[in-house]
Amino acid sequence: MATLLLKNIGTFVSGNIEKPLLEADAIWIEDGVIKNVGALKDMNEKAAEVVVDCAGTTVAPGLIDSHVHPVLGDFTPRQKQLDFMESEVHGGVTTAVSAGEVHLPGRPKDPAGTKALAVLAAKAFSAFRPGGMKVLGGSVILEKGLVEKDFEELAREGVRVVGEIGLGSVKSPEDAAPMVKWARKNGMVVMMHTGGTSIPGSSTVGLEQVLKSDPDIVSHINGGPTACSIEEAEKLISQTTMAIELVHCGNMKTAVEIGGLIVKHKALHRVIIGNDAPSGTGVVPLGVLRVLSLLAGMTPIKPEQALCMATGNTARVHKLNRGILAEGKEADIVVMDAPMGSVGKDALSALAAGDVPAVSMVLVDGKIVVNISRNTPPPVRKPKVL
Ligand SMILES: [Zn+2]
Repeated sequence: MATLLLKNIGTFVSGNIEKPLLEADAIWIEDGVIKNVGALKDMNEKAAEVVVDCAGTTVAPGLIDSHVHPVLGDFTPRQKQLDFMESEVHGGVTTAVSAGEVHLPGRPKDPAGTKALAVLAAKAFSAFRPGGMKVLGGSVILEKGLVEKDFEELAREGVRVVGEIGLGSVKSPEDAAPMVKWARKNGMVVMMHTGGTSIPGSSTVGLEQVLKSDPDIVSHINGGPTACSIEEAEKLISQTTMAIELVHCGNMKTAVEIGGLIVKHKALHRVIIGNDAPSGTGVVPLGVLRVLSLLAGMTPIKPEQALCMATGNTARVHKLNRGILAEGKEADIVVMDAPMGSVGKDALSALAAGDVPAVSMVLVDGKIVVNISRNTPPPVRKPKVL
């Protein structure tokens, strides 16, 4: 049995937005699964194969990027870049959820083709982890002509998400709503593009279209990259129970205003965080961390709450057994500290100051995949493998 112990944890972020901070200084991991969270004195340190001294720094669940546009492999045809997902692992991201493999050159737009792409990407990414990252790939793009049986087949073949509605030929609520019902009946989670048109070929989606289509997730409520009006955003927050996604490649002013509305309407448990890269904005390895620093630095949202939005909240929406540091969960973990020269004293106060924290270690299924990030600034205090 492979055992790993994380000890000397200074700040413990649980991932659970109901109780973001816990009194615990150690995590015991067996065969990639968290077995115990609590006090080091109650654990048998000598029995651990690997011990990591976290040097009094911050430990949180690995971040979950709720919005990525992969195709196949770790390559983006949109920006012609290799290893963009591996690079994001160095920004603390251990899981990414596809919002649709929309950038495939020559993407088929008939029912058989869109199904084939989704099934291929879902199966390929289930067996491929760029830099250790778990990718929920193969999010089907809704095209006209799909019927109920297609959703049964997609679910049976491992497709778990409907990519952003609006990217394919299904745009009107009349076309979308029945497909949303078929998808949900088959256990799939439905995303919907919200706001202005992203790239030529996609479409503008407003409040009425979202309400009538009834997706599970209001994708990029702050725009991808053009935002809907703040009045529309407030209605989506206050009048629905949908998950609300904020992304990096969106409108930053709107993101800050929405941060205030989320607190006002007590909707913190519904917020998830995405990158929405690659896109026209580019590949942004630290995109999720940058949204966290924006929310913690410029809105009433606390840094530990922002971290829970990018971990436990997303895991709940997508029914993933991770994103929370608790017994029985997959041991996907990020260790962070203040970056050198920050006015913050630790990862949380650095976030509150608007800085990107320093990622010092990333674990996936209890295995170290990053030991000092090559993308964030270096940490003040480094963890040590004993
Ligand atoms: Zn979009």
